[in-house]
Amino acid sequence: MAVEFTPSSNIALLRESATIAVSQRAKALKAEGRSIIDLGAGEPDFDTPAFIRDDAKRAIDAGHTHYTATEGILPLRQAIAALARDYSPVAESLVAQDVVVSNGSKQSLFNACFVLFGLGDEVLVPTPAWTSYYEMVQLARATPIAVMGDAANGLKVTASMLAAAATDRTRGVMINSPSNPTGSVYTPDELREILVLAHSLGWWVISDEIYRRVSFDGEAVSALQVAPALDNLVIVDGVAKAYAMTGWRVGWSIAPRAVTKAMTAFQSHATFHTASISQYAALSALTRRAEADASIAEMVAQYRVRRDAALAVFGDYPGLPLVRPAGAFYFYFDVSAAFPLHAEPGSAFAARLLEEKGVAVVPGAAFKTPSWVRISYAAPESDVVEGVGRTLTLWSELKG
Ligand code: PLP
Repeated sequence: MAVEFTPSSNIALLRESATIAVSQRAKALKAEGRSIIDLGAGEPDFDTPAFIRDDAKRAIDAGHTHYTATEGILPLRQAIAALARDYSPVAESLVAQDVVVSNGSKQSLFNACFVLFGLGDEVLVPTPAWTSYYEMVQLARATPIAVMGDAANGLKVTASMLAAAATDRTRGVMINSPSNPTGSVYTPDELREILVLAHSLGWWVISDEIYRRVSFDGEAVSALQVAPALDNLVIVDGVAKAYAMTGWRVGWSIAPRAVTKAMTAFQSHATFHTASISQYAALSALTRRAEADASIAEMVAQYRVRRDAALAVFGDYPGLPLVRPAGAFYFYFDVSAAFPLHAEPGSAFAARLLEEKGVAVVPGAAFKTPSWVRISYAAPESDVVEGVGRTLTLWSELKG
């Protein structure tokens, strides 16, 4: 008997990423021989620093190619806890047992959503936010509640905006600073107020700090530095962005002991541990600190040069609503004036930009803000400046 696939109730609400249409079309145009400036990618264009690659090769030769503990090798978890203790006085008691290493921070976020939230729960998602947050909360059978940020304040939310969106079903909030897609960074006071509110109402806070070290006014503040308490806090971080290690798939969570135990048990059945060699590479990144800091400083300096060069181009178009990014490597801007009647101005704009100007970007529908568009400047400076220039030319042509 022929068997037809009917999606299970587990994935009834699952949607393909809204970024896929543009990137598929960009690939097709490239295959046809068109030269495309790709400003869609959310990953560093730098190589993983050489000392990390060398240590990974040594790990292979040393035979570190077997199963490890689900939660990761002890020295790596110790290094993660030591790093957290160094940047946060609140974290002085953190040890390896508070850490779970996962297949990228994405899996850490999924683990956290899955063990903390369930049917009937509501989770506040400051919006715009990375597309996977909404899907992860839904896969946990909870309901994501988008709380729209304030365009006059870098699309960030305040504690009072979150309080206004809360109901008696609210169980948690997902924070991301520096933000993908806006590049906004919460100030210590803004973050503290949110953490104080969450603690007073007994909400879980999942703080995604994957871009913490890609920040232009010193490292962005961590929730670990300003939290009134740690008993409702899950910190998620990883090596992907700051260390240019996206493909290695190493992320981690720092959480209360019971949550850590639950995430370990869940991960043990889902994926087990992340690759042993990748764990040794991450160990190198986190323990050879002087070299890592120098590499990060060099990459962040380059992101800053690209950001400033592109901001000079944006500066010629003062009518375009743009978030001035203080971290990560994205520009986020509102193109609704170009398509005032369209339901998804960002998608219409991204499609035209690709076809007519050969620039690939990500429409804001991916981040639940369909009027906006995201440009990544994790690309060579000349591409960034040229791509932003073409984008702005199209914008002024369309808005008339
Ligand atoms: N969190 C945010 C906000 C991201 O933008 C990304 C990747 O794009 C991730 C998490 C996932 O990173 P990782 O490669 O560590 O899974």
